[in-house]
Amino acid sequence: MSDKTKYSFETKCIHTGNGIDKETGAIRRPLTMANSYRLPEDASTMNWSDPNQLVYTRNTSANQIYLQEKLAALEGGEDCVVLGSGVSALAGVFFTFLEKDAHIICSNVSYIAVYRLLHEYFPDKFGVETSLVDTANLQEIKQALRPNTKIIHIETPGNPTTRVSDIAEIAKLAHAAGALLTVDSTFASPFLQHPLALGADLVIHSLTKYINGHGDAMGGAVIGQRELIDKIKGQAMVNLGGVISPFNAWLIMRGVVTLPLRMKQHSDSALEIAQFLESHRAVKFVAYPGLTSHPQHEIAKKQMTMFSGVMAFGLKADVDTHNKFVNALELIVPAVSIGHDESLIVYVGPNDERNHFYPAEFKNGHLRFSVGLEAAEDIINDLRQAFKKCGL
Ligand SMILES: *Cc1c(COP(=O)(O)O)cnc(C)c1O
Repeated sequence: MSDKTKYSFETKCIHTGNGIDKETGAIRRPLTMANSYRLPEDASTMNWSDPNQLVYTRNTSANQIYLQEKLAALEGGEDCVVLGSGVSALAGVFFTFLEKDAHIICSNVSYIAVYRLLHEYFPDKFGVETSLVDTANLQEIKQALRPNTKIIHIETPGNPTTRVSDIAEIAKLAHAAGALLTVDSTFASPFLQHPLALGADLVIHSLTKYINGHGDAMGGAVIGQRELIDKIKGQAMVNLGGVISPFNAWLIMRGVVTLPLRMKQHSDSALEIAQFLESHRAVKFVAYPGLTSHPQHEIAKKQMTMFSGVMAFGLKADVDTHNKFVNALELIVPAVSIGHDESLIVYVGPNDERNHFYPAEFKNGHLRFSVGLEAAEDIINDLRQAFKKCGL
């Protein structure tokens, strides 16, 4: 096999994990939808649950292995495990590395399922201790550290506030305390930020978002040292069963080919649109890491090459007007998720269960906006006509 590690990121997006199909000579590896693989002649001593052997698709599938190879290369990690969703990847990490009486420090604004897993389920069911802190503030992390701290988990940029946490500095704190640093890097994708190179132990992605990029397949991944990834494969994949469908792995493999092109476009358009919104008289605030007004803009510049496509903003208006604004949009689609080809917007009202953790300007609700790949001009014109319809 040729040495694919020498190539640049863009080239790896295309070639790593692909190969010539031995049976047909096809230049793309096929989709294999089988649930089982033929056993060796003497299966008497084999490990039925080996997550690196093709035995049963809940243990791993051919298409999953190809995708793992590609994602490990893109993040610069030794190995990768791909699961059925971003949440199954996150839950898999917590399940594998937290035990009874262990302590985890997590960002107090994070993906909603992470908030519930760490704030409710793990403490209530398994006796895990959780500290939810503002991870943009190193002092808060230091104060929260305990002798039994096993993980510091950050999401950067964070969903939905776009808060940025300093990966390199937090890695130092984690390692000095004997804890793992796990980073949900979904908003950045592997093209804009490399947490492992900055000292993180595990990087987690919802593949559902930018990595697939086309809004038509769910998946999750964890990348890091083989020893850690093998534990997740053994404990959380085979035995919790959050496996990815081979078809979704195949779709994501296809989506990731254009990741660099897409991330450049998302980032360029989002910066232009964030600046347009910030200058509009009816806009109360815009949270986007690429704006100089963003509280962690300097950290974002240090650890990201561009600022991706997600922002949050609010209007100088009441709840009804926010709803009216969303419904007045003609191009931008009101739907959850981020990182699709189409622009997506969702109005999160003030009854969000994490509202008390949000920065002051978010308290009356906010619009989370994922800028898609349409022409920036069309997106801005759509926002303009919606402002007008609402009399803003
Ligand atoms: C969407 C998202 C997740 C969850 O991913 P799913 O694929 O929907 O399970 C986790 N983290 C972040 C930052 C997300 O945006």
